[in-house]
Order: sequence, then structure tokens, then C-alpha cells
Amino acid sequence: MPMIFKHFKQVLLPVDVRIHRNALAHLPKLVRRYGLRKVMVVTGPRTYEIAGRRVEQILSTGCGDCRFSLFIVKTASRGSAKKIEQEMRGDLGDYDAVIGVGGGKVLDVSKVVAYHSNALLISIPTNAAHDGIASPLASFKEKGMPISIKAASPISILADLEIIRKSPVRLLRSGYGDLISNMVEVKDWLLGVEKADEDYDEIVAGISTMPAMLLLKSADDLDFRNTDYLRLLVRGLILGGLAISIYGTSRPVSGSAHKFSHALDYLGYGKGTHGEQVGVGTIIMEYLHQHYYGEGDWELLKYSLEKVLAPTTGRELGLTRRQMLEALMYAKRIRPSRYTILEDQDPSKKDFEICLEKTGVCR
Ligand SMILES: [Zn+2]
Repeated sequence: MPMIFKHFKQVLLPVDVRIHRNALAHLPKLVRRYGLRKVMVVTGPRTYEIAGRRVEQILSTGCGDCRFSLFIVKTASRGSAKKIEQEMRGDLGDYDAVIGVGGGKVLDVSKVVAYHSNALLISIPTNAAHDGIASPLASFKEKGMPISIKAASPISILADLEIIRKSPVRLLRSGYGDLISNMVEVKDWLLGVEKADEDYDEIVAGISTMPAMLLLKSADDLDFRNTDYLRLLVRGLILGGLAISIYGTSRPVSGSAHKFSHALDYLGYGKGTHGEQVGVGTIIMEYLHQHYYGEGDWELLKYSLEKVLAPTTGRELGLTRRQMLEALMYAKRIRPSRYTILEDQDPSKKDFEICLEKTGVCR
């Protein structure tokens, strides 16, 4: 290889990504394409009913002599992944692929098992609640604390819109919250570039923010019952995961809005999903960017969240005003090496009080 290429970044990209109706029917083709002879299907009790059973049928009838084992994961944890690996014992290295069929939690377990068994990962998401669908990171809660570990990236993603369309609408709204947070997270990243001499990649930043921008442009009409918007949402979340893979860290999709959500998790406050918490955090952090630098449009972000009926207030997350303020102050202590508007301006409690009042997040 010519020496010049040593300066380029080599990235492994998924090769078969499908986001359409009946995407599952593509599975036999993948089995043939990758020459899969032995696969393990990892699913959950509910997601088995939703899509796992169909995957089982497809593998039993339409995939030649490909053999498979089925694992039903009850809890999403590193322990569940370990349990599967122990059950496989000496066989672990024999599997060509892990097929994860489920929501983020099942997919996280699948990613870890695929990583440890050195197998290909095929991801079949049954909902679109966050950008973990395609990211190379697995997130779990251990002793009540969120942790994130390195795991496999999928070689293929079959996002069947008929299945995702039937998922709880709350999860789609959560996915939207996670997706539009990219708008503010990339502003944080640019602050890091400007103030802390951080590296930056415009291509990755574009991959992270463009789907969110497109959805925001249609804020007046947003409705995930509409296939075009649903596809754009799923595509955006998959691209968010890809942005992490390409850049190598979660920097393109995780900054101050995520710190707020992590603070709530650490403090054990509220009852929001990841995307719901991040969505509310996005309004607050976008307001701060606008307040200090005149960049952004927190009102548009809030309006679009309202449009899809996602939470835009602390109350909807089950939070009191005091808990919101405590979480915002706590967020400043999370991962201080990741430079965001919080590190940049070090807002006081009073600043946050004004912000909550102006944005209506705690009215
Ligand atoms: Zn997220």
C-alpha cells in the first residue's frame, strides 16, 4: 500500500444497512453473502414475539444448512452477556455471527457477545429509542450507575419499518430527543476545538447533525406515523452510531445534554428514558449556547419536541425544580475533560434558574 495512505483513517463500515418495510426478508441473502454456517440469535422475551420468532422461522426454512442457537435475554447487563458466553463454553469461537433482535438493551448484550466471540454482528432493531442501534458501545447500569463499554459494531442492520412503527410511540419520541441533541453536542465539540485545541472532523460532525437538521426543517409537520419521517429518524440514529464508529469516541453525539441526562441517572432522579432526558437537556444547553454565544435556536428545538409530544419540562420527567437544579449543577462534575458549554461558562445556580425560567422547562 502506498505510504501516503498511512495518513488516512481506515474505517470499517457496515455493508448491508436496510431501512424499509419488510427489511427482515433480506436476512437469507445476508446468510449466503457472509457464508454463515452457525449463528446465535439473541433476543428478549417480548422482542421474541415481535420479531425473534420470525427470525427463527427464516433461519429454519430459508437459510440452507445454517444452524442457529436461540438465547432469550431477560435483563440487559454484562452478566447476561457473560451467561451466554458461559453457556457456549468451548463453542463460542465456532459462531460466525450474532444476530441481535430487540431494543437497545438486547442489542447491547448482542454487541458484547459478538465482540467477545469475534463474530459478525447483525442488528435487527425492534425500536428506535436512541443511537445505540449502530454504535460500537454498549451501555448498562451497574449498581444504579450508567456504564459504557467497547463492543462490536454491526456489519449489517435490518431496520424493518413495519416492526419499528409498531413499537411504543414513547420510544420513537425518545429516539428523536437523542437525535436532535446532536445539534447542541456538536456545538459543544466546536467549543472544545476553539478553547481546548481539540481535534475535529467536519465529515463526522455533518453525519451527526444533518439528519437532525432535516427533521428540524420539517418541524411543523413532524409525525412518525409518516414513513418518510420515521425512516429519517431511524437513519439519523444509525448515522449517529456510525459517527461514533468513525470518530472513535462518542464526542460527535454526546456533550452537555448527555451530561445532564447522566447526572439524573447518577442522582437517581426522575423517570425519563435516555432520549427524553437528553431532549430536555438539549433545550437547556441550546439556550446556554444562544445566551453566551448567540448560536442556536432553543425555541425551535423545544417546538419540535412538543410537536412529537416528547417531554419538554422537568415535571414530565418526574422532576422537581430543586432536582433539576441539582442535576444541572452535578452535570458540571461529569467527565470534565469533555469540554462543553458547562466547562466553558461554568454557569452558577442563579444562571440555571434564569435559564429554566426563560425556557419554561420548570414552569
Ligand atoms: Zn444518547
